[in-house]
Amino acid sequence: MLSYKGYEAVVGVEVHVELRTAEKAFCRCSARFGDVPNTNVCPVCLGMPGATPSLNGEAVRLALRTGLALGCEISRVSRFDRKHYFYPDLPKGYQITQFYDPLCRNGEVTFELDGAEKSVGIERIHLEEDAGKLSYKDGKLFIDNNRCGVPLVEIVTYPHMRSGEETMAFVEELRRILLFADVSDCKMNEGSLRCDVNVSVRPVGSDVLGNRCEIKNINSVNFIGRAVDSELVRQTELILAGGEVHTETRRFNEDTCQTEYMREKEMASDYRYIREPEIPSIFVDEDYIEAERVKMPPLPAEREEKLRSLGIKAEAVGVICHSPVYADYFDSVSSLTTDAVTAANLFVSEVVPAMKKGDPYPSFEYLAECADMYAEGDVNIVSARASLKLSLEEGVSPRKAAETNGLFMLKDEGVLLEMISSVCTDNEKTVAQIRAGKDSAKKVIVGGVMKLSGGRAEPRLLSKLVDEYFE
Ligand code: ZN
Ligand code: MN
Repeated sequence: MLSYKGYEAVVGVEVHVELRTAEKAFCRCSARFGDVPNTNVCPVCLGMPGATPSLNGEAVRLALRTGLALGCEISRVSRFDRKHYFYPDLPKGYQITQFYDPLCRNGEVTFELDGAEKSVGIERIHLEEDAGKLSYKDGKLFIDNNRCGVPLVEIVTYPHMRSGEETMAFVEELRRILLFADVSDCKMNEGSLRCDVNVSVRPVGSDVLGNRCEIKNINSVNFIGRAVDSELVRQTELILAGGEVHTETRRFNEDTCQTEYMREKEMASDYRYIREPEIPSIFVDEDYIEAERVKMPPLPAEREEKLRSLGIKAEAVGVICHSPVYADYFDSVSSLTTDAVTAANLFVSEVVPAMKKGDPYPSFEYLAECADMYAEGDVNIVSARASLKLSLEEGVSPRKAAETNGLFMLKDEGVLLEMISSVCTDNEKTVAQIRAGKDSAKKVIVGGVMKLSGGRAEPRLLSKLVDEYFE
């Protein structure tokens, strides 16, 4: 929804992304997801008095890489702070985060939406620790502290988005960049990527910012769009009825697709931020940043550009660069085939659906071989697809599958000439027309041979032979 009764949404997001380190941020407990609750814990991440944290350098490196991937400035000095709040998911009673001096600032994410380029500014990225995971069952509260202390980056945008759709597109693109940068597995359903969305409304064209509501922990991209749209309606109705929007924290109800009041929004002063005294400041120098920049895997924009330069159409480029798994697979294919365009089409139609379903799919060598068969005129595109399928079923190469199943195109001139003369015998009128100069009637002969050969006649050779036959 772009506007509602003359009002538009103004949206900024805070995205929490768990970094893919083996260990937690400030202790050496495993950061693995899905282990038996409360088994990956120690005095440090449980906040026992006297336990001293020590910083995991790998978390700093991945946070810095996140900043580079999003075009941020990297702070040469950054520091940790304590954010205090009292809640069962936080045994220490405070979270170690970076409030005053974050590691990264001023980045940007650009993406295309409905054919127009959109850019969303990143205000800051800071490194912090995750809290425990709470769940409710049979009226009881369960606490899993395995997640306490898992390293996170919090990515904070400027309020640059104007609709649910735009917000969804931003989160999708952010997620894609982080996946290619290989800093996180970004699984929203497992909570390794979580979104808080800040929404205010204003008359379309105004540049005043209204009071905003924060909608916490929305766990799917689709719900993000719904949450923004429902807030646009709710806040606008509130204003039009003469009321005003209160700055508050709300939650998204997945059953009603509406937001609900949760609590008054905390102000920074509520958190009583103080400098974290037990962890030294982070110093990074130019060499360290440069080394990380060199190690960065190619990001989506660069990979798309490379595919376009091979002549691959925009739609296939979009599919291939949807995920690093696809893009890496296709990279291997395109390094082996002479026909990257056909390989891309076969990848989109034959491989991606199987990958999505978790079905077996051809190896990149076999896909490349299949594209080459097409490029060399050995099979038409229908047979190319069929030989890929048969190669999987029969456990042989596509070339072997095409051979044993009679899928190769007919390129034997002698056989084709015989067919041409046989079709001509049956079509005397057409032959007379062609001899009288009606060139377009040749397609009747070509069609006849195609039919006679069961569609296997190689079309370029056939039309050449038909031309020669009438010379
Ligand atoms: Zn621990
Ligand atoms: Mn945070």
